Amino acid sequence: MKILLTPALPAGKAAAVAAAAAELLPGARVRRAGSALEINSARPQAFADAAPALENLPGVAGVRLSEAELCPLACARPKKKISSPVNFGAGPVFIAGPCAVEDEASYLASASALKAAGAHALRAALFKPRSSPYAFQGLGWAGLKTILKAKKLTGLPLVTEATDTRQVARLAAACDILQVGARNMRNYELLKELARCGRAVLLKRGQRATLTEWLLSAEYLLAHGASKLILCERGGSGPLLDLRLMAAAKKLTGLPVIADPSHVSRDRATAALLARRALRAGADGLLIEASAAPLAARVDGRHTISIDTFRELTGN
Ligand code: PEP
Ligand code: MN
Repeated sequence: MKILLTPALPAGKAAAVAAAAAELLPGARVRRAGSALEINSARPQAFADAAPALENLPGVAGVRLSEAELCPLACARPKKKISSPVNFGAGPVFIAGPCAVEDEASYLASASALKAAGAHALRAALFKPRSSPYAFQGLGWAGLKTILKAKKLTGLPLVTEATDTRQVARLAAACDILQVGARNMRNYELLKELARCGRAVLLKRGQRATLTEWLLSAEYLLAHGASKLILCERGGSGPLLDLRLMAAAKKLTGLPVIADPSHVSRDRATAALLARRALRAGADGLLIEASAAPLAARVDGRHTISIDTFRELTGN
């Protein structure tokens, strides 16, 4: 933790801030470093409790915590790569499927074609968070038997989004990876419920979320019991992914970080282009909208890539 002191603070006042810091953080080392005080070795909760009190002291211009201090679990850099339900040790992982499960025949046709084209897991979206209340919200539980048939048919793990805490247990019983959508990155009660469900969790970066905010959401999951976590960069609103931020997340956390090139792309050519860029920038995989009939899709067909394009990406 760094406590920034106000410019030209008299030595006596700086010493008073240092004494207050030592009292608020018993056992921590307080060291003067230029116009700041540096504090090492405290528990994250102690930092979290002390920061507002320190910020409030006369002579303090601000308090800064590093990502590792804010998110020690997310920044712990696990030694082993996640190996189940998908294997992140051996080349990029491709999670693919239509935006939403729409009807059984089209979903099963896409699932088999994607498996043959090199998919490692299927998008199996039953609940769709949509900006308009009038837009298709997904099949919901009515689609459950369809995704289970696809799992049986292909042997591939299922990735599905939970949009509400009440869906978590039932989705976890059927699916292998539960997805936190961009809109829900800051839904902390949903994160806690997902953390406890026993399944791997795929956490998207919220639109406009900073690296720190994204990692704090990852920290929620890890602090509440998630043991397998995958991060997913999905960009903001323009047709761009933040590949520098993606690489920074990978470096800081050591977690698998994949990219979703679909949702910022207005057309399928852009989605394929961003997919390639993300892989070149070191993405551990893709979550991509792909299907056997993109032109017939009820949702997000414009940026859904064909099986042929998907096969070109996987190199199968
Ligand atoms: C999705 O992947 O189905 C989705 C809704 O994406 P996002 O949460 O990134 O908007
Ligand atoms: Mn979509």
